[in-house]
Amino acid sequence: MATPLSADRFLAALRSGGLTVVEHRSWRTHNRNHKGLWGPVHGVMIHHTVTSGTTGSVDLCCKGHSALPGPLCHGVIAKDGTVYLVGFGRTNHAGLGDGDVLRAVIDETALPPDTSADTDGNARFYGFECVNLGDGRDPWPEAQVEAIEKVATAVCRAHGWSERSVIGHREWQPGKVDPRGLEMKDLRRGTRKRLALVVPGVPVHH
Ligand SMILES: [Zn+2]
Repeated sequence: MATPLSADRFLAALRSGGLTVVEHRSWRTHNRNHKGLWGPVHGVMIHHTVTSGTTGSVDLCCKGHSALPGPLCHGVIAKDGTVYLVGFGRTNHAGLGDGDVLRAVIDETALPPDTSADTDGNARFYGFECVNLGDGRDPWPEAQVEAIEKVATAVCRAHGWSERSVIGHREWQPGKVDPRGLEMKDLRRGTRKRLALVVPGVPVHH
């Protein structure tokens, strides 16, 4: 199933996944749908913000900047694990990436190296920006990493995807390094374990 979730289902999926979710401003209707496609969707992309501080990071991801209008993602994952929803629909997070990587995500097979930038990722991926300086020294607190796994699990469960539908920006677009300091294979392993757990009240999609 690759039709994007409704905003209501997206929010419910995250809350059912045990996450603390904050609805920032008019996130449900804040998007870039007037600039291009939103969907079909195939995965979840993880980023780092290159910022510090929750309030400023959330504000930046909501509004964007002069070179890149917001929203810059769907949700911002703070150091304490709180998820701030800033947009829904097409958002400016993935840019152009490798079409072979997209095919691997759709097929849920091993990822090839990202060597080309020929495919619009903003139409195809949910995007989450994690507050981190991206300097290789800023730590990733356990609460934040757990929230990233829970977010990935919630969206994958809602769509019936496996952990192979979770990728890092650096696996999509040549030249990107984010999320720096997070091992995507560890994140996928954690997501796989969480997907295997039965969650009361949440139907398992087959
Ligand atoms: Zn990124």
